[in-house]
Amino acid sequence: MLNIVLLGPPGSGKGTQADNIVKAFGLTHISTGACLREEIAAQTEIGKKIEGIIAGGNLVSDEIVNSIIERYEKTHSNPNGYLFDGFPRTESQARFLDDSLAKQNFSISAAIDLEVDSEELVRRIVYRGQLSGRADDNETTARKRIVVYQEKTQVLEAYYQRQNKLHAIKGTNSVDETWQLVKAIIEKL
Ligand code: AMP
Repeated sequence: MLNIVLLGPPGSGKGTQADNIVKAFGLTHISTGACLREEIAAQTEIGKKIEGIIAGGNLVSDEIVNSIIERYEKTHSNPNGYLFDGFPRTESQARFLDDSLAKQNFSISAAIDLEVDSEELVRRIVYRGQLSGRADDNETTARKRIVVYQEKTQVLEAYYQRQNKLHAIKGTNSVDETWQLVKAIIEKL
């Protein structure tokens, strides 16, 4: 079983590489961002609570996100494993994920970190916003999300490094060049 975490700031190409990974290795794609946007579209209780938080570029609470992960894993069981995209985003979420996998005798196989500089990230997010219409894909929110990443999520590099599971790669090559690097890492696991 392969359990892969995709790390990297917003706009680093996690979604694109996630699609490649799940196709090539038969994993289930878990994107907490996509799950949260579904809650908003359906205007559930959670959806109403988090709409403003996401539009402002802030993180949704660990409690809500962890409950979404738990529910998703239960309803999308896959013996091949999971690709976690946009989760974990805090050290507490990372510990929750390790603990919940450990209860099933599983563990994270690798954390792949896509590195892209901030100005390139802003350019990519603004461009994506013109196509996606996402409320948080504009320049102001993009800059906020990058700062939130640096403050809350970047510590996960050290977290996975301590477990000898961190694989950092430059995310500024072409999509295909990045994919070749990502694929080579997973094939060696
Ligand atoms: P993403 O699609 O991964 O860029 O996520 C979009 C937004 O959803 C983020 O800016 C956060 O507001 C929220 N979000 C997604 N995943 C998480 C998470 N693991 N923890 C907290 N908030 C999250």
